[in-house]
Amino acid sequence: MNDKRQALVTGANKGIGLAIARGLAQAGMSVWLGVRDRSRGEEAVQKLRSEGLAVRLLEIDVADDGSVQRAAETLGKEIGALHVLVNNAGVIIAPATPPSEVPLDDLKATYEVNLYGPVRVTQAFVPLLKAAGDARVVMMSSGVGSLTLITDPTSIYSSVNFLAYTSSKVALNAVTVSFAKELAPFGIKVNAVEPGHVQTDLNGNTGVLTPDEGAVTAISMALLGQDGPTGGFFGSHGRQPW
Ligand code: NAP
Repeated sequence: MNDKRQALVTGANKGIGLAIARGLAQAGMSVWLGVRDRSRGEEAVQKLRSEGLAVRLLEIDVADDGSVQRAAETLGKEIGALHVLVNNAGVIIAPATPPSEVPLDDLKATYEVNLYGPVRVTQAFVPLLKAAGDARVVMMSSGVGSLTLITDPTSIYSSVNFLAYTSSKVALNAVTVSFAKELAPFGIKVNAVEPGHVQTDLNGNTGVLTPDEGAVTAISMALLGQDGPTGGFFGSHGRQPW
């Protein structure tokens, strides 16, 4: 397993994260399924192993400093370098609440996972990413992370008004640009991805794409060649507006 290129996907026990993990393993990588719940994670690991894929479980709650530190230490003992990090874990909390009534605790809890999570995880894994020499980091954003689209009345995203979720993804896009600038000299490319409207538990399975379809852009950004972009925002039709 250690001769292969290594990938870590957070929130990988279901939904788009599981599909990304499958796709990266099918591309020949050794994939660590980052999960916050061991039993849900073990089920996912068994599922992908039964498909003949090289996957292992890594316990990581992206909202918890100690858990992320422990995960980075554990992985550091197992592998010399991390070639791909997909910050996929995400939550939506009480999306129907009007912005003027969103409790600050809901805003904070959303940011802990969707915004501070990717920052916390990326910072913790930077040494292993640098050791790869050509690492790729993918930030799982959303169409609502685009200020252009949420203010464009012709875009479906302008009809969505989730204060906490939307602002977490807008900020995540800025975080993507910041890491991309710092890490470019180390051969690390950092890009944000919009998966489309995907049928998962996050949206009560109302999406129109399958998780496999929703994983396509993230997988391609994780496997970018040396000529690929960094510090960008991408969807199935190419560059997304910020
Ligand atoms: P999902 O099926 O609900 O999966 C979310 C994953 O994140 C689960 O594995 C969940 O684990 C994990 N997670 C939540 N909090 C976590 C934490 N503190 N630490 C570690 N893992 C945590 O949703 P999804 O649609 O696949 O979402 C994946 C990503 O895509 C999210 O970032 C989401 O914002 C983004 N996205 C989705 C859509 C869409 O249409 N579905 C559109 C745009 C963007 P548990 O099973 O333990 O809860």
